[in-house]
Order: sequence, then structure tokens, then C-alpha cells
Amino acid sequence: MSLSHMSRSIDIVLLSDKIIGDRIMPFLESEVRKLTDSPTNKMIDLWHEMCKGKFNRSIEIVVENRRRHPQFRSTPHEVNTAFPTSYKARAVLSIWVESFPGLRPMIISHEIGHWVLKLQGFRGMFRRPRDFFLEGLLNSLATHPPLYRLQRQVGHDPQNDIDARCDHYRQLFSQHGRADDLTSALGLADDLMNCSFKNRQQLEWTLSKNRVNTQRLVERILNIASNYDLYDAESNVAFRRTLVNEMKLGNWVSSDDLKPIKDLILEVGRKTSQ
Ligand SMILES: [Zn+2]
Repeated sequence: MSLSHMSRSIDIVLLSDKIIGDRIMPFLESEVRKLTDSPTNKMIDLWHEMCKGKFNRSIEIVVENRRRHPQFRSTPHEVNTAFPTSYKARAVLSIWVESFPGLRPMIISHEIGHWVLKLQGFRGMFRRPRDFFLEGLLNSLATHPPLYRLQRQVGHDPQNDIDARCDHYRQLFSQHGRADDLTSALGLADDLMNCSFKNRQQLEWTLSKNRVNTQRLVERILNIASNYDLYDAESNVAFRRTLVNEMKLGNWVSSDDLKPIKDLILEVGRKTSQ
């Protein structure tokens, strides 16, 4: 999942000649395959491969407009996310994007990649009571390093996006001001772990001048992360457990990401056989 307080305008592939004006209908997988690129297609293939291994079937992807989803409709910042759901009596992986009806291949491979990793054992963690924003930040922070590696393996390089976000943060924090230290720190740590060396230096310097508290939290997060191998699924979950305990983020449980998909397949099967 990616949530950001800014519009990420870089690297948009609007495919302007292929946009269908006020399109409402979701894009089906066959259309997504044609409208995106080879790395996105490879990520879709990888998703199907994982599904065949885990559920003995493939689960199509569809891409929808996040402004048509009740939960994200009025969110003021950018939202891109994905989850399994039913669509026209089929179990699908539904991807909700900001740029709809434009399709950004990098975003689509990113959101599918999150689910490939879940099936590879990089389980999500939920807070009790639920806090979707904090959960998104924490799970993204931990799983983005292996996700970026996965994206590079299929041929997408997310480096420009990551570095552009660092630039944005640097401008945002170039003055003193109020900030939610914890959520800022989680977002910053996410990008600092993955940005280029120069960006990291510049952003850390800016934080040390203007946001000392936030910087302390960021350092704590990065220190904890350095004790874990984030590319290993179990170690990655263990990192998140330590982080929520040490930073006293409340009560968290790790989720079984396979069960809701299995339940969904059963539920859709029951409905269609009725
Ligand atoms: Zn993400």
C-alpha cells in the first residue's frame, strides 16, 4: 500500500492515447496487460504462479478507481492499494489506484508485489483496535525493501519515485513546524532505507536542523531494523513485532493472509453454485 500526502507526479505513464474519457468500469486483467508494460505483466505472471501454488488456481487482477471505493472516496491524499474481493461472481485481486483511468505500471506492479510477498510469507500485521493508517505505514516500512527488490527483478526500477519522495520530505521539513512525529518518522524511515546515499544525507541533515524529535524516532526505527534481515519473511515479521513493542504502538497481531483468500474463493464458489 502507498499513502502519501503529496501528489507523486513523476513517472506517470498516462497512455493518453488509450485513456477512455470518463471511464467508470474497472480494467480487467486482459486490458491491464495491454495498457501497461512487460515488467507489470511479469509481476502479474508471478502473482498467478503464487496463487496456483497456494490455492491451486489463478486469481485475476482488476484495476479500479479508488474514488469509487466507499472507504477511500474522500481521502484527501493519494491512495493506491490492493486486496482480494469478489467481482462479477469471481474472486479477484482488486487494485485501487489514484491515477484512474490512467494506469501507472510502477504503481500496479507495486500493489501486486505486496500480495506476492504476502503469499511468500511476509504476513501483514494488524493493530487492535484497527488503525488502517498506522498499519499501512508499519507494514510498508518493513516490506518495501523486499518489494523494491522484487520490482527490480521483474524490470521496474522504483528509485526515482523513492528519491522524489525524499526531495519532497526535505522541502516539507525545511522549516520548523508541527508534525505528527510518529507517523512522519515511519514514513521517513521507509524512504530513508531505500533512497540514494546523497538523498539520505541531505534529508537527515534537514531533520537534524528542524525536526530533532522526529529524527530521534527515525534513528530508533532504523537501528531496530538493522538487527533484522528484512528480505527474510520471518525476520521481517519479527522486526515489526519488536518495533511495535519497543515503540509502544499498542496491541498488534500478525495476520494470516491466505485464509481470507481461501474464504473468498469458497464464498464465491457457493454463490455461483446456488
Ligand atoms: Zn507499498
